[in-house]
Amino acid sequence: MRIGITGCAGRMGLMLIRQVLTNEGCTLGGAVEQPGAAAVGRDAGLLAGLGETGVIVGDDPAVLFAGVDAVIDFTVPAATADFSALAAQARTAHVIGTTGLSPAQQTAIEKAARHTAIVQAANMSLGVNLLLALVERVAATLDDSFDIEIVEMHHRHKVDAPSGTALALGRAAAAGRDIPFEDHAVRAREGHTGPRRRGDIGFATLRGGDVVGEHNVHFAGPAERLELTHKAGGREIFAAGAVRAAQWTAARPPGLYSMRDVLGL
Ligand code: NAD
Repeated sequence: MRIGITGCAGRMGLMLIRQVLTNEGCTLGGAVEQPGAAAVGRDAGLLAGLGETGVIVGDDPAVLFAGVDAVIDFTVPAATADFSALAAQARTAHVIGTTGLSPAQQTAIEKAARHTAIVQAANMSLGVNLLLALVERVAATLDDSFDIEIVEMHHRHKVDAPSGTALALGRAAAAGRDIPFEDHAVRAREGHTGPRRRGDIGFATLRGGDVVGEHNVHFAGPAERLELTHKAGGREIFAAGAVRAAQWTAARPPGLYSMRDVLGL
């Protein structure tokens, strides 16, 4: 399978180049960056600290999507929405790791998924996807005398909050409770907030240092509390999951899939 990478000079992009080049089941079919980026014109392998590959970083995503079987995309929301249209046009699978998409950008992706297989996940790691399944189950088991609070911490460069993973955990909890997430999500608190509303799903965000990603889901009930935690030790867990998702799309019909589909959870 030929895999392409967008945003290949980014923190995740470099990790993805390494992951694709060291995986025997796929080859690096191409890589792009934004026009004018320093990486354009350089060898993708050398860029990622490995040997020369002959794959030169380009700046035309249309050429990339037309020339590979699947594209892995960890970039920015506006670019990802545009890329999904290119994926639909070329019938190329699109693995989306980008987070922080607006409702309109999300709609663009859903539209594109009518024409090609798209895997989208706010977190591509095996452990977090297991956590999502566990949170849904626990939320379905405990009633709303247990308050659900989700605490996340990430490195100082992260630009969106709460993290896409924290929101996905909140949605999993809401699905388990069979309540509409948006009516119950409390994304931040400040000042005189009044008492906590029964059934709400609260979020707290911490930013600092080089923390790859930590998520704690608290179920705080009368006289007992359950906590489920995932700690990411390195970004390679996301890259490995993304490559696995790309390979899973082979011969898959059009549709919008999640990592839970990929992992069969
Ligand atoms: P980053 O800023 O280090 O990298 C993003 C790269 O995309 C940059 O190199 C940038 O130049 C490039 N880019 C931007 N617009 C582009 C365009 N139009 N064409 C080509 N390249 C373009 O960011 P990062 O830390 O690698 O994270 C990227 C995204 O992935 C974020 O949304 C982050 O939240 C998300 N992320 C998701 C997971 C997951 O498992 N789903 C894990 C880690 C990060």
